[in-house]
Amino acid sequence: MRTAPAILMYHAVGAGADPYYTVAAGEFRAQLDWVARQGGARSSVADVLAGARAPVVLITFDDGHISNYERAFPMLLERGLRAEFFVNTAHVGQPGFIDWGQLREMAEAGMSIQSHGHTHRYFTAMTSAELREELVRSRALIGEKLGTPATLLAPPGGRMDAHLPALAAELGYVRVLASQPGLWRRPDTDVLPRLAVTAAHRGEAFIRLAAPGRGRLALARLRYGALAAAKRALGDGRYERVRASLLGQDGGE
Ligand SMILES: [Zn+2]
Repeated sequence: MRTAPAILMYHAVGAGADPYYTVAAGEFRAQLDWVARQGGARSSVADVLAGARAPVVLITFDDGHISNYERAFPMLLERGLRAEFFVNTAHVGQPGFIDWGQLREMAEAGMSIQSHGHTHRYFTAMTSAELREELVRSRALIGEKLGTPATLLAPPGGRMDAHLPALAAELGYVRVLASQPGLWRRPDTDVLPRLAVTAAHRGEAFIRLAAPGRGRLALARLRYGALAAAKRALGDGRYERVRASLLGQDGGE
């Protein structure tokens, strides 16, 4: 790859269930303006895999929150940007989430609609039969409703074990997008790292994360390491409950 793109991972924009992962609308708009100025996000990950030139920054969203349609989608369109939207197919059309008609409209405008699993259960908490069912069902539903089956998979909570890439490939997913920080260095890598954009990435903190150059990975890895340590110490359930209080005030980078 000529450049090693940063793949940004967003969740809700403006208002969301989880304040840690919700980026304010004005902040998001400023971030998109910055990305557009860098020549980033003119293509989605799927576009790049289909042969488009890789931009310096790529944009993805997890969870299919309604704000992705109401807030992010129009802002992306205005700037001629594209993104991946990883949705839980069981949540599509539920209160607070995008519905199939909206996803169709987004897909027709060039957005890439992909799988975040069927439910949002962690893949590592399922039996192998349950996991297989989850991946098959989610991919097929997206194909049935939108005309193109999912080819990309983002595991909920970033939870995955070493067998996931092979299973995903067997079931028709060409890449897994992880939550582990890093850059997309080689086009053929089966697991693509991403950089989480959180409420704390305001102004310069966002640019330090997304801008090419030294330093951004060190910060992202530090944050990811702190979260991973908290997950190990607390277990998934308690971790989810205390995450906001652990890191929610951490705006200083
Ligand atoms: Zn998620």
